[in-house]
Amino acid sequence: MSIVGNLGFPRIGARRELKRALEAFWSGEETSEQLQSTARELRSQHWQLQRAAGADVVPSNDFSLYDQVLDTAFAVDAIPDRYRALADADPLAGYFALARGVQNNGFDLHALEMTKWFDTNYHYLVPELQRDQAFRLRDHKPLREYLEARALGVETRPVLLGPVSFLLLSKAVDGSDRLALLDRLLPVYAELLETLKVAGAQWVQIDEPCLVLDLDDDDHAAYRKAYAALAQVARPQVLLASYFGALGGNLALAAELPVDGLHVDLVRAPDQLDDVLDALPEGRTLSLGVVDGRNVWRGDLDRALALATRAAERRGSGSLQLAPSCSLLHVPVDASTEKALPGKLQSWLAFARQKIEELRVLADALDGAPDAPAALDQARARLQTRRQSDKVHRPQVAARVAAIDAATATRASAYPQRSVVQAQRLNLPVFPTTTIGSFPQTRDVREARARNKASKLSQAAYDDFLAAETTKCVRLQEAIGIDVLVHGEFERNDMVEYFGEQLDGFAFTRNGWVQSYGSRCVKPPIIFGDVQRPAPMTVYWSTYAQSLTHKPMKGMLTGPVTVLQWSFVRDDQPRAQTCRQIALALRDEVLDLEAAGIGVIQIDEPALREGLPLQRSDWQAYLDWAVECFRIAAAGVADATQIHTHMCYSEFNDIIESVAAMDADVISIETSRSRMELLDAFVKFRYPNQIGPGVYDIHSPRVPDANEMTTLLHKAVAVLDPAQVWVNPDCGLKTRGWPETQAALEAMVEAARRLRAAN
Ligand code: GLN
Ligand code: ZN
Repeated sequence: MSIVGNLGFPRIGARRELKRALEAFWSGEETSEQLQSTARELRSQHWQLQRAAGADVVPSNDFSLYDQVLDTAFAVDAIPDRYRALADADPLAGYFALARGVQNNGFDLHALEMTKWFDTNYHYLVPELQRDQAFRLRDHKPLREYLEARALGVETRPVLLGPVSFLLLSKAVDGSDRLALLDRLLPVYAELLETLKVAGAQWVQIDEPCLVLDLDDDDHAAYRKAYAALAQVARPQVLLASYFGALGGNLALAAELPVDGLHVDLVRAPDQLDDVLDALPEGRTLSLGVVDGRNVWRGDLDRALALATRAAERRGSGSLQLAPSCSLLHVPVDASTEKALPGKLQSWLAFARQKIEELRVLADALDGAPDAPAALDQARARLQTRRQSDKVHRPQVAARVAAIDAATATRASAYPQRSVVQAQRLNLPVFPTTTIGSFPQTRDVREARARNKASKLSQAAYDDFLAAETTKCVRLQEAIGIDVLVHGEFERNDMVEYFGEQLDGFAFTRNGWVQSYGSRCVKPPIIFGDVQRPAPMTVYWSTYAQSLTHKPMKGMLTGPVTVLQWSFVRDDQPRAQTCRQIALALRDEVLDLEAAGIGVIQIDEPALREGLPLQRSDWQAYLDWAVECFRIAAAGVADATQIHTHMCYSEFNDIIESVAAMDADVISIETSRSRMELLDAFVKFRYPNQIGPGVYDIHSPRVPDANEMTTLLHKAVAVLDPAQVWVNPDCGLKTRGWPETQAALEAMVEAARRLRAAN
């Protein structure tokens, strides 16, 4: 009998129940008992749901009140000293202090740093370790949740983050070697495994996602040591899980480790199957990740079945499991509740529940179950409607993409010539001041938008409201003395959704929520078809704003790579192809803005860096098409039109060549928190175009004074040509309030004036 084994389930709840419970608890509206009861209820529902959908092996301890890496740190007592008193007195308060910081009852603690979980949009908390770090088994969450499921009659396979990935994902605050802590950590894992064994667990899943990264000899040695040590323990059987890519150079290692089973990702890396079959010793369980855990589409079951059949022929189906490529954490819960999607789109979607159902069909087909052929036929029929849909395939879009050539992606003249023409047209002072685009999205703004959407505020009244906000914003910038103005982005809900809603080929779900971090969820648009722009998207508000002022008004667009990166994308064509389509749509918008008299246009690409593939050997190919797409969007304009871009959350050292190849006339970046250190890459590269290094942190309500910003600007001017330097904040101001925004921008303009006087 073929087995369906799931690796993890979304924890936030189909209706974001966990989010609500967490936020109610944090605000003091609900007790910890109420929070724990919602959490228990969700776990129970999810276990039942998975069983009902056809999973034979259901995970436990995949749930978390905030994050599974934080859970692991907490469980092994990797708690930095500053949180310890609180964590000892009140574990839950200590746990949330690590996650979110705390400022009350005499405590004033920052949260742990947060960073992206591999190449997903999920963020984990980075454990802090140090040379003399001690570990102990502090928290028995894996055991508790295993027993909880068991009491409900569900036998589960607990999920643990493996010791080597845990260390590699942590940071040593004193710069010491994290892997040197392995000897101290392993006894805790041993104890944890023993307690699970004693409780009756047959199997555990140990996640070692770092196995798909580029690893060196020390990393390999750590893996060998760790799993050799854990093999000595009286423990449940271990399924070692790799995901998010091919094992590549780590395959021999992964196959050799003394565990009982291996999970491999055959969606991202189907080609590794034969090598895995060759390498894996006999008797090992092989979990085949054949259904995409990272995307929302129903898969090609024939293709998946062919992989599984090949594996079954080699190893017999007795030791096989059919699984999603990775935990289903990265997809929403249930597509069957999405009733308002265009055309047949809903029938093409598989969220967590449907993915388990697909795995059941595959397992049944492998076993020759009588109703499997009908289910496979149904899957084929659905796929066929998608392949033939004229909402998906638009020949005119394909033709346009095919016609892209070098000229499409190249400005008419090189930067030195353009900059002369732009300087004449714009007539800006040295150290020109600008902002990144958004101004405070106050409760009023969000309420007006929500009421308009719910048809409680007429379009005319909403437009009047937006016009008033925009006018206020323009007047304020003029009064402060900013040189290049923005309209404020009051009409935008989100920088991707706003564009997706106006482009063909995008759809929006009701409940397609995915956890981003803690209680924060995103509802990414679904790009399901060829992208085209039926009508201008931003021209109305940009030209309205320009009509209010004689200063240059900057048009504001989200770049093609960022739109792609923050959406669920098609799986039936390469990402690069979808990105080129978006780029062409944006190019049309850029040209319409230019034709409407907008002389400065910013194309934001904050997500460019996060699109980098996990393995370095794949970087250049990605960067090449990403840069090409930006250039397609930008390059249609005349020399006199100034193209800006903006990138935050970026470390530039290893991508500076590509950033320069984007050939934006001006780039603004986030540099204030690093005290201008992030500029180094540009300096070393002798970046030729103009740069606005952010002079103040917009993440904090704190208002820096002009001295502080002047000091930062002096640092920038010391290493750059003064003629290159713009003055702007780190990022958009949408999360700030008006008073602090005004005060900070006044200080910023004052700092620019001081610099002009000194140069
Ligand atoms: N223009 C956007 C804004 O100002 C940019 C946001 C971003 O970089 N994340 O909000
Ligand atoms: Zn930004």
